Amino acid sequence: MRRYDLIIVGASFAGLACARTAALRGLKVAVIERKADPGDGVRTTGILVKEAAEETDFPSHLTRHVRGVRLYAPNGKFTDHSAPGYYFLATDTPNLLRWMAEEAGRAGAELFFGTSFKGGEQTRDAIEIPALGMSGRLLIGADGATSTVGRAFKLDANRRFLGGVEFELESEPDLDGRFLHCFLDSKLAPGYIAWAVPGVGVTQVGLAARHGVRPDARAFLEAYRQKLGLPARRILARRSGLIPVGGVLSKVSLDRVMLIGDAAGHVSPLTGGGIVQTLRLGRRAAQLASDWIDAGGEHPARALAREAPRFGTKLLLRRGLDLAPPNWLWNLAFGTAPFRAFVQGIYFHQRGGKADLPPIDKASANLSETKRGEIV
Ligand SMILES: Cc1cc2nc3c(=O)[nH]c(=O)nc-3n(C[C@H](O)[C@H](O)[C@H](O)COP(=O)(O)OP(=O)(O)OC[C@H]3O[C@@H](n4cnc5c(N)ncnc54)[C@H](O)[C@@H]3O)c2cc1C
Repeated sequence: MRRYDLIIVGASFAGLACARTAALRGLKVAVIERKADPGDGVRTTGILVKEAAEETDFPSHLTRHVRGVRLYAPNGKFTDHSAPGYYFLATDTPNLLRWMAEEAGRAGAELFFGTSFKGGEQTRDAIEIPALGMSGRLLIGADGATSTVGRAFKLDANRRFLGGVEFELESEPDLDGRFLHCFLDSKLAPGYIAWAVPGVGVTQVGLAARHGVRPDARAFLEAYRQKLGLPARRILARRSGLIPVGGVLSKVSLDRVMLIGDAAGHVSPLTGGGIVQTLRLGRRAAQLASDWIDAGGEHPARALAREAPRFGTKLLLRRGLDLAPPNWLWNLAFGTAPFRAFVQGIYFHQRGGKADLPPIDKASANLSETKRGEIV
């Protein structure tokens, strides 16, 4: 048996953020990841909100600043939204995850790729994984929305999801690079939105829909090209995955096991954004775990639960969105002052304020706003 202080299942945002901090704090850390490479089979659009960019310093060549949101009504009208000093980062997600894995390794964590966790046993003061010849004083499940660790130890499981599908396209120079382009359309994306993101070297186009509806990314791709008058581009890759939107789970730990990230439901039920929480709570879980392993005291899962968001209002709004308001209702509400204020609040939180978009840059110089739609 190889003995570790901490065994983490999952080498994505939550697991790698946790592994790096735990290793820096002197814990002997193993990370088990079933994929052969951390950048394989990415299941996210990978947009970082500003708060996520403030949580971890990522290499700038792996990210691209996007200053605001252009929101389209089903009838093609759009409004632009931004807030002073705010930005999003589109990311080269596969390489970002590879970089995070390297950082965790540099800090001292041992990473085992191509290795699946299938089950383990809790003894009095450790978790044993005989199939992998490993034991750990604490096991952290950072293994995503349908956590095997959660299942193996009979913890709570996510039950409500959005299904998301996305294509990576050859970069589209005519797509205004200042914006995340978000499309309201309850026919194509009931319960959520569709999007086109000017990414790092690619354009990402996708949509998500409430549970039980199969999102049709090809239909959206066609509609989106027509709507924006853009030519066909080659599809380079496809991403898809489930987004847990039922809120934070209650029973996420035993004495020697705990869940973090999507596995614990640390995802906004409204926007489906989870990366900011994986980075923040992944790191905090490592700090709390290292204190507990060194000195005892409060269990790290209990301490982390106090710091996790509650998502109360967002859960209520999720119920409303799941009803998929008909497109005529979106068209009617669109551009009204209350709707604009609502959109500002969703995308920019308390930082909502007067728009301060930069002048049209080179990437968007060809884009005539009147040609693309009408500013409401
Ligand atoms: C289509 C889509 C688009 C999204 N877009 C955004 C966005 O733009 N911005 C944002 O903030 N959030 C977004 N999200 C949500 C975000 O991706 C997640 O919240 C985030 O990836 C969760 O990170 P995680 O580390 O908890 O889990 P995951 O990223 O799901 O990683 C889990 C890891 O565990 C590994 N694993 C699973 N089971 C095992 C096992 N048994 N043994 C070993 N390894 C295992 C997996 O291979 C994977 O690497 C999106 C989600 C989807 C599905």
